[in-house]
Amino acid sequence: MSLKIRFKVIAAEIIVKSTTLKHHTKYFLFLLIIAILNGCGSDSKDYTQHKKQLFTFGTLVDISILDNNSQRANQAIDSISSEFDRLHTLWHPWNDGALGKINQKVSTHSAPVIPPSIIKLIEKSKEFSTQSDGLFNPAIGQLIKLWQFDQLDNEEHIFQLPPTDSIQLLLQKNPQMSDIQLSLNNDNDYILHSSNPSIALDFGAFAKGAAIELMMTNLKNQKIYNALINAGGDLKVLGSKGDRPWRIGIKNPDYLLNKSSQPILAAVDLNNEESLFTSGNYERFFEYQGHHYHHIIDPRTGYPTSGTRSVTVLTKDAGLADAASTALFIAGPENWPRIARKMGIDSVMLIDEDNRIYLSPAMAERIELLTDTQPIIIKL
Ligand code: AMP
Ligand code: MG
Repeated sequence: MSLKIRFKVIAAEIIVKSTTLKHHTKYFLFLLIIAILNGCGSDSKDYTQHKKQLFTFGTLVDISILDNNSQRANQAIDSISSEFDRLHTLWHPWNDGALGKINQKVSTHSAPVIPPSIIKLIEKSKEFSTQSDGLFNPAIGQLIKLWQFDQLDNEEHIFQLPPTDSIQLLLQKNPQMSDIQLSLNNDNDYILHSSNPSIALDFGAFAKGAAIELMMTNLKNQKIYNALINAGGDLKVLGSKGDRPWRIGIKNPDYLLNKSSQPILAAVDLNNEESLFTSGNYERFFEYQGHHYHHIIDPRTGYPTSGTRSVTVLTKDAGLADAASTALFIAGPENWPRIARKMGIDSVMLIDEDNRIYLSPAMAERIELLTDTQPIIIKL
């Protein structure tokens, strides 16, 4: 096993994760660093890089395509930009899009018609939920709403803790993906039945990955074979960056919290079709009476998960990477290896609340840590 630990500036593609508007200033600072570092590197002579940044799925999404046909690359960028926006509207849990309407109807016992893209989300989510022993549970939308995480980008919102009895009531109702069944109606449309009216679907832990996976298929259909789609640090690559692999930096949580001057914690070279997703307790949170309440909820307690700072997952399927990073975050330092095995994930980095770094052997082979913390290697 070759575990490389060293200190140096990475003169390569550096991606950092920044999901909240509040972090935009830092994000732009990072982009400046990236631009400078990229300027030092040598891009492929054969391909031109085409880039676009959009704000969608609550985050900045950077699309980079390497292709020698500018028209094809720009067309592909335009088509996936509008597809991202379309899916964001369709999959938003509380707006007037398809999922928002489904959530309203489920709570009133009616059986809504489900569009094909949401059928796929539901089917996959049922699978991931079972594999993760229910830790990944998109059926807890009402609980997530109770915590007001849908208000994190609203500067005006004054955060309060949800009443304990409201949390307990929702826990008793125990919404699960297995409470949901899909069936065909007379018009050959799929309709959703829920045996549990406390269900509300929130695909926040999975939607970005599922969308990126669809966009990459879309790009390949348009004969684009070298690309990076980076949704605030959650990303997937196709091919390479010219004559070198896509090199990705994993941000240092302490830097974002102004506790360290080192922006990047680790780097990894990604191969064709690989995805890298991180879930962290520093990404989306509010402070209340001096305490930090973050957005990843342990469905067993109804409260933000404790014990984990971040989990990074490397695997091919972006949807699985997204769902698994959330599930392993909740599984925590004790249980992540078991849940990783059940979900079919072999490359994981988990940082616990005491800043211990745990690596699976496959991740240790791939990652280059840029810190002096000695990692703990855990066999899966
Ligand atoms: P991620 O950043 O991918 O870990 O996803 C976090 C988001 O997933 C939150 O903002 C919620 O919308 C949603 N979420 C929180 N807890 C859970 C959970 N236990 N299962 C599924 N989704 C969750
Ligand atoms: Mg996730």
